[in-house]
Amino acid sequence: MAADLASITGIDAPTRLLIGGQWSPGRAGVLEVIDPATEEPIAEVADATPDDALDAVAAAHQALAGWAATPPRVRGECLRRAYELMIADSEALARLMVMENGKALRDARAEVTYAAEFFRWFAEEAVRIDGKVTIAPSGANRMLVQHQPVGVAVLVTPWNFPAAMATRKIGPALAAGCTVVLKPAKETPLSALAVARILAEAGVPDGVVNVLPTTKPGPVVGAMLADQRVRKLSFTGSTEVGRTLLRTAADTVTNCSMELGGNAPFLVFADADIDAAVDGAMIAKMRNGGEACTAANRFYVHDAVAQEFTQKLAARMAALRVGPGLEDGVDLGPLVNADTKSKVATLVAAAARDGGRLVTGGLAPDRRGYFYAPTVLDEVPVTAGILGEEIFGPVAPVVRFTDTDQVIAMANGTEYGLVSYLYTADLRHGLQVAEALESGMVGINRGVVSDPAAPFGGVKQSGLGREGGHEGLLEFTETKYIAVDW
Ligand code: NAD
Repeated sequence: MAADLASITGIDAPTRLLIGGQWSPGRAGVLEVIDPATEEPIAEVADATPDDALDAVAAAHQALAGWAATPPRVRGECLRRAYELMIADSEALARLMVMENGKALRDARAEVTYAAEFFRWFAEEAVRIDGKVTIAPSGANRMLVQHQPVGVAVLVTPWNFPAAMATRKIGPALAAGCTVVLKPAKETPLSALAVARILAEAGVPDGVVNVLPTTKPGPVVGAMLADQRVRKLSFTGSTEVGRTLLRTAADTVTNCSMELGGNAPFLVFADADIDAAVDGAMIAKMRNGGEACTAANRFYVHDAVAQEFTQKLAARMAALRVGPGLEDGVDLGPLVNADTKSKVATLVAAAARDGGRLVTGGLAPDRRGYFYAPTVLDEVPVTAGILGEEIFGPVAPVVRFTDTDQVIAMANGTEYGLVSYLYTADLRHGLQVAEALESGMVGINRGVVSDPAAPFGGVKQSGLGREGGHEGLLEFTETKYIAVDW
């Protein structure tokens, strides 16, 4: 099995736990990694237990003092080397990611570059951890404020961006002087383990980065959060699991950053350039096959342009080539697993029952693998259930609107608030609407907002804290105030 994977991908991916610099078999046997395009196993990876997790916490804790005291320039240079090694290995890493996640090779290539960029960005940020000195208002003393590494950090990541969600956390953690235990999703441990090996090759000392694939995420993460040596949880995943982890972290008052689910609205006003809006919609909807927290989930299109927009969008969606991600010319690979595929099919069937008009797609191709056809539904009623759910697949429901206040209210009518998109020729109007939208990020005349240099994150139940930018580094620090009389 492993030999095949190495010849297909060009990389001999690690398959064991990484604890204290040692590749260890783990105490719970192995878990199987499945290729979503064939439904066949492609690798066996060590399956961690709570005891393995405590070993990893001990290793991270032991490495903490040394890493925190390592000069920021040296920490940054390790990250910079990791960036270069990732770029040098990018084709193999992309192919490995396709095998475990299913995404099309072009999406995987884009993700590897995006993932590596977090190492480059945080290599640069490592030497810019500033503080301040002020005089107390009374004049009696000086006030020194500095940022110290928060400590051992547990990082929990999802399967949809198996490399980038890991580097978006490891980069700032290491830049700040923290050590980490990464728990990747069980569907996609190979990319995370490959990234960890690159960090070791880049000179990151043993114990600074530990990795624990597991089929028992609750007990494994729970054991770590109960351990007083762990001072930080950075989680990316569903809002439901995020809520559970916030409750668990409350017992030890562990510092939490949460990147949770989204339900992004995509607004097209009557004055928008419709071709540009369709281009943007294809990116906002179909980047990563729709399996993105930033994916446009609800299209609100002004009545005057709805027919043109929907027809053009449906034509572009219907022209996408669906197939195994490694095949030439494939635009859309399979969904990650059977549950995701059946959830998407159920949501589309319900939307049609609710009154949505199917324009293209609406079916799973008759073949092995978790494939689902690119789908557009028009005239979806505002009350349809699909608008309240994170679809996480290649499905675009279109709702028509006539009034700006009405569309803002519809866009905001969700507990989520990660990202919104809007298309208009009137930038003044666009900025006014952007300010009224309840989301942490807004794309104006753009279908993508993600950038390692920008603060990524949500409001409402889409999360707490930011990743990327300088803000992402501060999430891994504590503020220390020293009152001094000199
Ligand atoms: P998920 O919440 O099921 O799993 C995420 C991670 O949490 C995985 O590593 C999983 O093993 C782990 N996990 C599951 N149950 C756990 C528990 N009880 N205790 C501890 N860990 C547990 O989410 P998913 O299906 O892997 O990913 C899709 C979700 O992630 C979507 O909701 C998507 O919007 C979200 N996401 C958010 C962002 C963001 O930046 N806001 C980015 C990517 C994905």
